[in-house]
Amino acid sequence: LDMRTPGALADAERWTAHNYHPLPVVIADAEGAWVTDVDGRRYLDFLAGYSALNFGHRHPGLIAAAHAQLDRLTLTSRAFVHDRFAEFCHRLADLCGKELVLPMNTGAEAVETGIKVARKWGYQVKGVPDGQAEIIVAADNFHGRTTTIISFSTDPDARNDFGPYTPGFRIVPYGDSDALAAAITPNTVAVLLEPIQGEAGVLVPPAGYLAGVRQLCTDNNVLFIADEIQSGLGRTGKTFAIEHEGVVPDLYLLGKALGGGIVPVSAVAADRDVLGVLKPGEHGSTFGGNPLACAVGTEVVKLLETGEFQQRSAELGARLHEGLHALVGNGVLAVRGRGLWAGVDIDPALMTGRQAVERLAAHGVLAKDTHGSTIRLAPPLVVTPADLDHALAQLAAIL
Ligand code: PLP
Repeated sequence: LDMRTPGALADAERWTAHNYHPLPVVIADAEGAWVTDVDGRRYLDFLAGYSALNFGHRHPGLIAAAHAQLDRLTLTSRAFVHDRFAEFCHRLADLCGKELVLPMNTGAEAVETGIKVARKWGYQVKGVPDGQAEIIVAADNFHGRTTTIISFSTDPDARNDFGPYTPGFRIVPYGDSDALAAAITPNTVAVLLEPIQGEAGVLVPPAGYLAGVRQLCTDNNVLFIADEIQSGLGRTGKTFAIEHEGVVPDLYLLGKALGGGIVPVSAVAADRDVLGVLKPGEHGSTFGGNPLACAVGTEVVKLLETGEFQQRSAELGARLHEGLHALVGNGVLAVRGRGLWAGVDIDPALMTGRQAVERLAAHGVLAKDTHGSTIRLAPPLVVTPADLDHALAQLAAIL
């Protein structure tokens, strides 16, 4: 195999399904906010693994925890208990202010778990007639790629030709609490939302929306499930994006950064009256809550317990958004987001989002487009102010 860029790209294309359209960059190593490709070119990583790398590439504390655990114990399955399990679950539950945690692996699995728990709660606690549970979701959502999750996607690429679809979901416009109120029936068991819609283009809902949803859920005995898989764990300047509205959901869905960019770790956090509906044999995962995942996840939670990363994201986020707002009218139509997370609408008269991220890559900054002319920026929270300014200068240069 030719390990330099053109050969490596061709081989990747030759041997895999084409379910991605990667930028023509072949990464070989990384540290912090920087990656180096096989030809020795360096790039600032402004995607950060879709926020799985909030703490940067190879964070020393996380790598040390992983190394130490690799030398002791990596997998038991949940048929047995291991000595890293309780600490992880306890610390994560405390971080969430919830009583219990259910660890899984990928984000989609956390979403599936939340759906199953909400349905079971609906039948056993709320008293919804068997098979009638409804979950309300938002248009333009992104919650993952399983057959059930894509059943309530409104993105034709995500959904078309993957039916038959799982019933039991109602879709309402995002940000409109009146529409949500109108969709609630006696059979509604949950509302499932991203507090900020990431894949849709980093859409921040109108002020008061999430608080309004919380009130509707409380008034109607409906669970509020916050998908914080991309928005949570420091990305927006707080531990959870929903905190910006002072809202506490019934279930948190977490993933991505929970695994420190090392292993897939996801989780559902909720109180006993909700997660307690699950009994032995009703749900599980071979790898969920494995010792390596718990060792890394515990270290991730410890990093977040100090509040240092949340503060960094808030402070550097202000700098990022100030820099981006200065580009509005100069090739940028609009900027959205919170903390170190931004959706930037490039003027389509200038170039597409794809062309923008290709040009940015040529200038040494990696980012990803979404939905036509939007690019999203989400650097690791360890990015330095100088690196941030450098990336902003590159964006200005390509525009
Ligand atoms: N939920 C949200 C909000 C996401 O952004 C994603 C991934 O982008 C997922 C769920 C699915 O996570 P995973 O790709 O780990 O299954």
